[in-house]
Amino acid sequence: MENFAGVGVSPGRVIGPVRHMPMPVSEPPAGERHDTPDAPEQAVAALKVASKAVQEELKRRAGIAKGDGKAVLQATSLMAADPMLLKSAAKLINNGMSPARAVWEAGASVAEMLHNLGGYMAERTADVLDVRARIVAELRGLPAPGIPASDTPFILVAEDLAPADTATLDPGVVLALVTSGGGPQSHTAIIARSLGLPAVVAATGVEGIDSGTLVFVDGAAGTIALNPGSDEEAAAEAYRAAAAALTVFGGVGVTSDGHAVPLLANVGGAKDAVKAAEAKAQGVGLLRTEFCFLERETEPTSEEQIEAYKGVFDAFPGKKVVVRTLDAGADKPLPFLTDSSEPNPALGVRGYRTDFTSPGVLERQLKAIADAASQATADVWVMAPMISTAEEAADFAKLCSNAGLQTPGVMVEVPSAALMAEAILGEVSFASLGTNDLTQYTMAADRQLGSLAALNNSWQPAVLRMVKLTVEGSAAEGHEKPVGVCGEAAADPALAVVLVGLGVSTLSMTPRALAGVGAVLNSVTLAEAQRIAGLAVAARTAAEARDRARAELPVLESLGL
Ligand code: PEP
Ligand code: MG
Repeated sequence: MENFAGVGVSPGRVIGPVRHMPMPVSEPPAGERHDTPDAPEQAVAALKVASKAVQEELKRRAGIAKGDGKAVLQATSLMAADPMLLKSAAKLINNGMSPARAVWEAGASVAEMLHNLGGYMAERTADVLDVRARIVAELRGLPAPGIPASDTPFILVAEDLAPADTATLDPGVVLALVTSGGGPQSHTAIIARSLGLPAVVAATGVEGIDSGTLVFVDGAAGTIALNPGSDEEAAAEAYRAAAAALTVFGGVGVTSDGHAVPLLANVGGAKDAVKAAEAKAQGVGLLRTEFCFLERETEPTSEEQIEAYKGVFDAFPGKKVVVRTLDAGADKPLPFLTDSSEPNPALGVRGYRTDFTSPGVLERQLKAIADAASQATADVWVMAPMISTAEEAADFAKLCSNAGLQTPGVMVEVPSAALMAEAILGEVSFASLGTNDLTQYTMAADRQLGSLAALNNSWQPAVLRMVKLTVEGSAAEGHEKPVGVCGEAAADPALAVVLVGLGVSTLSMTPRALAGVGAVLNSVTLAEAQRIAGLAVAARTAAEARDRARAELPVLESLGL
């Protein structure tokens, strides 16, 4: 039996046939002409047939899709028959251009026009570009781009997934995700965890697996085995049974000896918050406010902001909700705040630093958060992303206080903040460790790069030492401030135990992870967690830290985690 190995980023064991993500559609050559110059109407008719076929297929898929995916597919299906798109393409065809090139150019013009209109219309730009690629694929007889449509379950193999692809990912049909690129903190990994799908990233060579081949994916071990036998079938069956039992979180995060560790949710808006409350999260540990306004060309108005934040607060009456101010930049560009031409965006003007270049936006956001908080009963805490110095922490605390917000905090995701935790925590009320960025900056490894996945691993002892330093700084003489974790590390049950052992007071994660983390945490005493943390921090490598911790937590194996 042949095996492939990568980095396991979302646990679970499943067997299924492989389907590959089709190659992106390439641009038809400029100047490509159709072959019926005397009868351009035939070429126009071919375009119409192709656009109709694309529309019908998208409509069919919208009919069976659920949630966000349904809305995305409906919007795209309308765009496929857009009269403006077809009319401008027909004009180009009448001048001799091939239907594929014509729809490509017409799509570009429509996209540019929508982009210039701004607001809601600008957000449709991606739909037009998606539709033109689908029409070109149809005209060329190539597979449609995006996640393959299928009525039977499969394991999706891709180089990496774009955010737009994942919007149409149906977890009822996709059994697991395997990528040859992508890192543990990549978009694919975060989505897989939020959907509860087993996933392996950075698995070199998987592009070569024949479509339809039956494989066994182990999302905890990070392995893919071809042509599984009875052992793998038994493991997949055992996981199915364990997963069914592990879907419910009791609503209280606590060690077996009664040490409380509230388990909170990471959310991107009101819809997520409602789901998180249903999953019994004890509050929100990270509201990524930039997710409410991604791709916006202009600063959201105060009314829009109040509505977005209040929707989250109302899902958690009387409970803690930690709002993070806009974390724009690098992998999350907000066109009204960030400069896409920066040579090195992860080290550039992102997060709190946008206050240097666009003063006023942060103050207006804090005011909107305070206004929304005054209309709700949630216990609202506010934190700034990418804080690097004690001066920045002090300035942020002042802005919060001016806005009438009582509980200011910082994210610790830059190594300087971990090293200076004592001084920084002297200025604010709490800290939250953003282990995704803290890992990328400690290891100097882009979190989106599959080729650096081994470095970009929060089990790296250097990262664990950063966590330890931060907690020690928070407990310095004169003040005792809570330190939570809201990076993906908190969603890994074994790593969660290590973090609690290091002194972290809350863990915030995708709601899907609550039950698993809750169960494993409840299987150890605080003293055991501290001992396991000691073993992990003293390890020489990430693999050794992980193996040492997992060896002390046999419950993981029995829960299939
Ligand atoms: C982090 O960096 O760990 C974090 C929680 O922030 P984000 O993933 O949104 O950058
Ligand atoms: Mg971050």
